[in-house]
Amino acid sequence: AAKADGRGVHRFFREEMLLGAQGRRQLEDDLRQALAKGELHLAYQPVVSTRDEKIKGFEALVRWTHPVRGAVSPAEFVPVAEECGLIESIGEWVLRTACMEAASWPGEVRVAVNVSPIQFANPALPALVTSALAKAGLPPARLELEITESVFLHETASSERMFRNLKGIGVRLALDDFGTGYSSLGYLKTAPFDKIKIDQSFVRGAAIAGNRNAAIIKAIVTLADTLGMETTAEGVEIQDEIALVRELGCSHIQGYVYGRPMPADAAAALLGQGGGQAEASGFKTSR
Ligand code: C2E
Ligand code: MG
Ligand code: MG
Ligand code: MG
Repeated sequence: AAKADGRGVHRFFREEMLLGAQGRRQLEDDLRQALAKGELHLAYQPVVSTRDEKIKGFEALVRWTHPVRGAVSPAEFVPVAEECGLIESIGEWVLRTACMEAASWPGEVRVAVNVSPIQFANPALPALVTSALAKAGLPPARLELEITESVFLHETASSERMFRNLKGIGVRLALDDFGTGYSSLGYLKTAPFDKIKIDQSFVRGAAIAGNRNAAIIKAIVTLADTLGMETTAEGVEIQDEIALVRELGCSHIQGYVYGRPMPADAAAALLGQGGGQAEASGFKTSR
């Protein structure tokens, strides 16, 4: 299924050119053992409300510390995991771990988990989600699943059923990296998303006078508002971009300007400071 994902294929070929076929096989072998050896962990990046600048949730991002190569980016190893079938077990570990770690967070703070198109195509996903929530004792409404629009490349009855089943559990659904794929807008008519995540390529440079990205962000926000969906601007790095995306009506902001992905205990500590609704301004400077 990953072969049909244009971006995945692109990243895969780039990876293969960098490493060579043998290097890639090595990476695959190492990745196969990474889970068992405890080399994976999750980093959490704050998602902040534009209205009150409070933390509304965190996105869980998988991290791999390779014994020799050190930190390997998920942009590098997730496509490899998708190609060799490992994404199922890695994705399950991510989901279960994120639910467990988020269960101790106070109040309404949500956790967002990235779901690969390969996981999305597996009819067992809803049962896994239910199990992860139950084991962790996390209310469904506090879990948000992030899905990229590549899942619509082959939209079928089974993807409709998947959306229905996931919504039936009570989790939230977010459309990740919006605007970067190759699919049409038609799926927005029926897909039950709670949120659209505006890709960082549209945020980059948007605050510079005359840059067209601001107009694109505005159009996406208008579309999302009309459909009753929230919007998160991704990759916000500077104060000017906070001001701009707030003015354009984005409901949430995620980016280095408020915090880089951090270890679970740092995320929990951040929430503890503000009684569960920590002021984001408290860590603006400590990026
Ligand atoms: P994504 O889901 O769009 O995650 C956002 C990425 O943007 C993260 O990169 C994050 O660290 C980065 N980012 C956040 N704020 C800023 C900013 O202000 N400036 C810049 N330049 N970058 C920012 P990361 O952690 O390297 O993850 C890359 C991608 O890997 C993710 O993109 C997602 O597609 C994938 N990924 C990460 N974790 C998982 C996972 O557990 N499962 C799956 N299937 N994919 C994952
Ligand atoms: Mg994401
Ligand atoms: Mg994204
Ligand atoms: Mg992205």
